[in-house]
Amino acid sequence: MKLGYNEATCMKHSTLEQDLILCEKYGYDYIEIRLDMLQDFLKRDSVKNLQDFFGSSRLKPYAFNSIEDINFCTPKQKETLLELFTFGCEMSQTIGNPYMIVVPTMGKEMHKKSKEEIFDDSVQILNQLADVAKPYGVKLAFEPIGDKRWCVRSLDQALEIVQEVNRPDVGLALDAFNLYLYNKLENIDTIDNVPLEKVFVYHIDDCEELPLGVLDHCHRLYPGDGVIPLAEISKKLHAKGYEGICSIELFRPEYWEKEPEEVIRTAAEKTRRFL
Ligand code: ZN
Repeated sequence: MKLGYNEATCMKHSTLEQDLILCEKYGYDYIEIRLDMLQDFLKRDSVKNLQDFFGSSRLKPYAFNSIEDINFCTPKQKETLLELFTFGCEMSQTIGNPYMIVVPTMGKEMHKKSKEEIFDDSVQILNQLADVAKPYGVKLAFEPIGDKRWCVRSLDQALEIVQEVNRPDVGLALDAFNLYLYNKLENIDTIDNVPLEKVFVYHIDDCEELPLGVLDHCHRLYPGDGVIPLAEISKKLHAKGYEGICSIELFRPEYWEKEPEEVIRTAAEKTRRFL
């Protein structure tokens, strides 16, 4: 697999321009740019300079993060969603970024929705977004999040949705932590059921040993420092023939306090063992 860096990892203490330099320096193959950090960058700098950077660097863009809360939108929410999504598509085409991460809706009421409602709504919105993305040549990676606040939680559920959508430009983002949030990955063998062509993105991240319901994104750790069976996940992806991105994505406030160079260097060292 190829080494990737997701900008969430240092987002409170870095900028896109700094992340680009550090990722190139520490040998990353890909960067997953955050849309908010891209918008921030564009206040100071030009998209032309970004194009030039990728034109002359080993590092390449892979996926924009992220289009969130895609389900059950009000017309107003849908308008805002489509505006950001279209911006992401335009920027993707300009700098050669192939994927957008799309995330199901989070909310206190989500557990009250029926499986059928969620399925129908997800299929509809993924088709709508894929129609928008098509002229730009952008693909959608749908990322389930295991905690009960999110409406699409398990890999099985996300896979069913993506198979119903049945388009080559709509697949999945497998995030080790987000999968673990659903029953602590008791259903790890579901990974075997995902066809290779539907694995668009692999987010790697470990976490502390805490009960479900308490465990949250702030408890993510460097790969190998926690309790998620990352070696087994990587083995399953290898067995499938997956050779795409393995991208470290952490949201740990403790790491946000540290110097980005230290975090990005450590993240590369700790992630390489699982490639
Ligand atoms: Zn993720």
